[in-house]
Amino acid sequence: MRIYADNAATTKMSQHAIRAMLPYLDEIYGNPSSLHTEGQRAAEALADARERIAKALGGTDREITFTSGGSEADNLAIFSAARLGEAKGHKHIISTAFEHHAVLHTLDALQKQGFSVTLLDVHENGLITPEQVEEALRPDTCLVTVMYANNEVGTIQPIARIGKLCRERGVLFHTDAVQAAGHLPIRVQEQNIDLLSLSAHKFHGPKGTGVLYARKGIPLSTMIHGGAQERGRRAGTENLPAIMGMAAALEDACAHMEENAAKTAAVRDRVIDGLSRIPHSVLNGARDPRLPGNVNFCFEGIEGEALLLLLDDRGIAASSGSACTSGSLDPSHVLLALGRPHEIAHGSLRLTLCEENTPEEADYLVRAVSEAVERLRSMSPVWRDLISGKKEFIL
Ligand SMILES: *Cc1c(COP(=O)(O)O)cnc(C)c1O
Repeated sequence: MRIYADNAATTKMSQHAIRAMLPYLDEIYGNPSSLHTEGQRAAEALADARERIAKALGGTDREITFTSGGSEADNLAIFSAARLGEAKGHKHIISTAFEHHAVLHTLDALQKQGFSVTLLDVHENGLITPEQVEEALRPDTCLVTVMYANNEVGTIQPIARIGKLCRERGVLFHTDAVQAAGHLPIRVQEQNIDLLSLSAHKFHGPKGTGVLYARKGIPLSTMIHGGAQERGRRAGTENLPAIMGMAAALEDACAHMEENAAKTAAVRDRVIDGLSRIPHSVLNGARDPRLPGNVNFCFEGIEGEALLLLLDDRGIAASSGSACTSGSLDPSHVLLALGRPHEIAHGSLRLTLCEENTPEEADYLVRAVSEAVERLRSMSPVWRDLISGKKEFIL
């Protein structure tokens, strides 16, 4: 038996999305830019997908740009806002310390181009407040970019209030909604969102496709130069099969959002309650508001990677924010941003569930994790020092 509990990394495609893609891998293969019948059939499908995605977000079709995924959408949004700001001499950007690297590394690139970036401190509970944004705003601020929901600790930021504040101050607001799309309500108008990124493979759609929503009147700075696709904003023949799969997956996710969230959150709560009984552990991020599928714990005295390997042996696909898994030796920047000390951040475990996970799986997860933590601690010299009193417990 395998339990897949890494839905924040990627999701399994739904049958619904696969079925929506199949005709476009087979008989409808025209290039949407071609004038012949085959091309026009493809162009009609593309227009239809664009309209349906716009509707799911509360926007209009002309506000949708298809990209290769969440990372490209984040880059396009942030560079576009930066170029607009630069033209007015406004070169200050506000973001948070726990954004995805697609945002943080884009901001690093802009800093090298002379932009100044304020990264807001994240509270220990994994949340930032609109007041923090307000305090950081300057006359030369051109962009505020704050993620809707965090991919590691699952906390949900007050983006509607941040959006309102930005709108009042005439500053563009971008949100990386990659973890939120299909899982939390998105209404770009009501939430005062100017720019929004999403990625299909985080809501049971295909990998390698995503969307940048850009409110009408916000010009985008082309990063991929070439043909006139996407009204000149992003060149390259559209990945029509993936786009059709994304539209179907997003509609499906939005149609079942409440029931999926309730089902997933019930399983999540069962796991959180179970793992909370492990001594010297802590849940990372507030319990509420939290993504329905996110569980993230630190266990003192163990290494996250060792835990992952033991769990994989027991049939569980999980994630740890730290070290080897992410190809670096640093612990998760998100857990550090929440104020976890290095040695605690190293012992982290993220389980991200979806509506297909069952209460029985929750019980298995709790049992397997509890046993694995106990086993690793029994072999750990750090743990020996902690229980003998040579070292003090942090948790
Ligand atoms: C997965 C993810 C991304 C990157 O999306 P890709 O489609 O994989 O490029 C960006 N931001 C967040 C919050 C994510 O979870």
